[in-house]
Amino acid sequence: MTNQITTMLELAAAPVRALNPYDPGHDPTAVKQLLGRSTLCELGSNENPFGPAPGTYTALAEHASMLCRYPDAGARVLKQALAQRYQCDPAGFCIGNGSHELLVQLAQTFVCPDDEVVYSQYGFAVFGIAARQTGARSVVVPALPSLGTDVDALCRAFTSKTKLVYLANPNNPTGSFVSASGLEQILSALPMHALLVIDEAYFEYCDRAMLPDAASYLSAHPRLVVTRTFSKAYALAGLRLGYLMADPAICAVLERTRLSFNGNLLALVAGSAALDDQVHMRTGVAATLHTRAWLAEALQTLGLTVYPSQGNFVLVDFGRPASPIEDALLQRGILVRPMGGYGLPQCSRITAGLATDAQELIVALRDLL
Ligand SMILES: *Cc1c(COP(=O)(O)O)cnc(C)c1O
Repeated sequence: MTNQITTMLELAAAPVRALNPYDPGHDPTAVKQLLGRSTLCELGSNENPFGPAPGTYTALAEHASMLCRYPDAGARVLKQALAQRYQCDPAGFCIGNGSHELLVQLAQTFVCPDDEVVYSQYGFAVFGIAARQTGARSVVVPALPSLGTDVDALCRAFTSKTKLVYLANPNNPTGSFVSASGLEQILSALPMHALLVIDEAYFEYCDRAMLPDAASYLSAHPRLVVTRTFSKAYALAGLRLGYLMADPAICAVLERTRLSFNGNLLALVAGSAALDDQVHMRTGVAATLHTRAWLAEALQTLGLTVYPSQGNFVLVDFGRPASPIEDALLQRGILVRPMGGYGLPQCSRITAGLATDAQELIVALRDLL
């Protein structure tokens, strides 16, 4: 098998040969089998355990009989619902199979092998994968000591070759964010021929007094793209649904490279229904923020360093290799996300959701440390 992979890899395009697959963390199904358990305390994937709005299940059931049909080709209904929610033009949206697809499609569509793609050290892992598969040069800007994006250094990294700039706000896995003045600095430094992609996967969890709503800059900045997802606050990670907001001219270009029917029928229907129940979404977000604060304090009480986070997770530094601790947690059925792939081997990323899960983790850590 390994030999065959080596042989097949020689057939692959040069940029693909240099690529590593996306690392989804632990495989809960495999871990359940390994431990002989039916449930786990899953804190490794920033999922939202409060689940989607009740209305999404009704909508899914109502559309089950439609599965022999192709989905709404232009995702027209969902785009209209999004346009109404955010008071903008439906032509300024693209729908994706998760926002991951859109982040990759942006690079595939706009980046040439001679271009440069700029993003921060510790930036979301998909940025590197998306950039590298185009054959372009990745310019990874060293982060601040706080692990956050160094906005000055990011702007200094812009050149005549910069085509795409990725910034997750807040960033996963660091939880760090760029303020409105930082975003404005990036927008004014952005070269004429470059796109700025702000990944707002955690938009609904953010403190709006601290983080800018990047979409409010769209009308003044036609090369700004904002990606968001239904995977986190809307709790639809399993259906795969994300969207982007941009100038309709950018959306029209992306339409050329979009896979046919990339938003599946059930995802589109569930997305509209989920948007309709803002109370459910906000209730889950409020409970998550409560758990996040409790978790951060409990981890600090154990003497650990916790990075401030604007997402539904915290990054914790154990001050020693995290993997033995992660292994011991796994034996107890508790999954957290290892950070070795990000160059942070002493850290783990822990999802905040149910208070009971957070308590279970803290009890286990108290025992282990
Ligand atoms: C979770 C996450 C996404 C969302 O991915 P989907 O493909 O929409 O599930 C995007 N960006 C960041 C930074 C994330 O953490």
